[in-house]
Amino acid sequence: MKIICIGRNYAKHIEELANERPLEPVVFLKPDSAILPKKMPFFIPPFSSDIHYEVEVLVKINKVGKYIDTKFAHKYYDEIGLGIDFTARDIQAICKEKGLPWEKAKAFDGSAVVGKFYPKEQFDLTDLHFQLLQNEVVVQDGNTKAMLWKIDELLAYVSQFFTLKKGDIIFTGTPAGVGKVKENDILVGKLEDTEAFRIKVK
Ligand code: MG
Repeated sequence: MKIICIGRNYAKHIEELANERPLEPVVFLKPDSAILPKKMPFFIPPFSSDIHYEVEVLVKINKVGKYIDTKFAHKYYDEIGLGIDFTARDIQAICKEKGLPWEKAKAFDGSAVVGKFYPKEQFDLTDLHFQLLQNEVVVQDGNTKAMLWKIDELLAYVSQFFTLKKGDIIFTGTPAGVGKVKENDILVGKLEDTEAFRIKVK
C-alpha cells in the first residue's frame, strides 16, 4: 500500500508557514514503512530537533481507481479516519530552500500515525470537526469545510498521477496550529467526539 499526502489544503495553515497558496494541490508520498505500528510510542528521531505534529483527516481507498471523476470519487472509499503527518520541520526548511524533495522530512519511519477508521456514513464529511490535543490542550482545531480541495476533488486529482489501490490511505492536509512535539507528550486525535488515536512521544 502507499500513503498519498496533500499539503497546503487549509488557508490558515498556509499563512502560518508563510507558504504560497497553491494553484493545484501539493502532493507527496510516504512509504508503508512510515506507519507508526499500533500501540507503539513515537520516538523523536535523532536527525531532527524540530518535529511537528500535523493532524489530518484520512481516507482509506476501497478499490482500484485511475482517472477518477470527482462525481464518482465517493465510490472509492467507505471509511475515514484521523492521523498525524509528523514532519521534521528543520529538515523540510532546508529541502524547501534548496528545492529538494521532502521525503527525509516527511516519510521517515513512524512519521505516519494512522488511527482507527470509521464508516464514512457516521459523519458529515463536508462539515467534519476534528482536533488534536497535546497533553489535554487543544492545539489544532479543524473542520473539513475549510479545505481548499474537498475529499472527492483530492481523489480525482491524485488518481491522475497514481493508480489508487485498495488499502491506500490519503492524508488530506492539516489545519492551522501545527507545532513541536517533545518527549513525554501525549497526543490525542478526535473526530467529532470520538477518540481516533492516542500516542505517546518518547
Ligand atoms: Mg501534512
